Amino acid sequence: MVKTLLISANSFSITVNEKPLKKINNMHKQLKRVTNYDKRLPIVEIYTAVQSEGSRAGYPTVVIRTTGCTHRCYFGEGGWCDSWYTSIHAEKGKYSFNDIIQAYKDNPHIKEMMLTGGSPTMHGALVNELTHFAHENEIFITIETEGSHFLPTDYPINLLSISPKFSNSVPVLGVPTPQGAITDEKMIKTHNRLRCNWDAIKKSIDYHSDFHLKPVWDGEDQKALKEIMDAISALEISPDKVWFMPAGDTRESLQISYPKMFDWVRDNGYRLTWRPHIIAFQDKREV
Ligand code: SF4
Repeated sequence: MVKTLLISANSFSITVNEKPLKKINNMHKQLKRVTNYDKRLPIVEIYTAVQSEGSRAGYPTVVIRTTGCTHRCYFGEGGWCDSWYTSIHAEKGKYSFNDIIQAYKDNPHIKEMMLTGGSPTMHGALVNELTHFAHENEIFITIETEGSHFLPTDYPINLLSISPKFSNSVPVLGVPTPQGAITDEKMIKTHNRLRCNWDAIKKSIDYHSDFHLKPVWDGEDQKALKEIMDAISALEISPDKVWFMPAGDTRESLQISYPKMFDWVRDNGYRLTWRPHIIAFQDKREV
């Protein structure tokens, strides 16, 4: 029997079930939950935005950015991971679960959540708790993930937005990081340990409600394209689940990759996703 508790967070209450609601072949025992809603969690940003990428583009959303990542992405001329403060030089979290609740209280018109990072799937209890909160409040969760970990949750996540990190993300020995550390073998090993973890990605796709693959490509690099195509084939997914995203984190660089990607997607039957937040705000944080 499912026992219910009522947790009161300020004037906002949610019902919490003690037992996990979803099990697949006894794959997991009772999943962890967040029990103290005032406790500081590994969350560095909570803000509102319009979802700009992938199949939920256009929806107003609350964005929750977790800190901590198994990867150390470096994209050559494209530079380091644009959220390096959650990965290479991970900042400490500063928000609690009550802060998330407050964001939805302040924005009752928003029924979407984008969970991004860092690598949100490192934080099982937090993500699981969010699935309960979202279920109770009819919120659609999109989680951005590089696919390192399979993470079961009591309620399946509505949409996995999966961006595997290919060989063009591997840091180069000796290159200085955003805060001046020097890339060494250990950092490269850390980056590669869970990179392109196809088993975890397949399990995640099977478990959660829906997914899309969101590979970043510049429209030119044939080696990178081959890796993307190999991934599509390894995961056995159809073209309508693949949203190609033009490379570039400035208006100028997108102006170069957009026309090539328009033409390539038109001729190859996949989907194309935009990056309108960069057109609107360049590389500003929290947009
Ligand atoms: S996986 Fe994402 S958050 Fe982690 S280092 Fe790479 S780009 Fe940054």
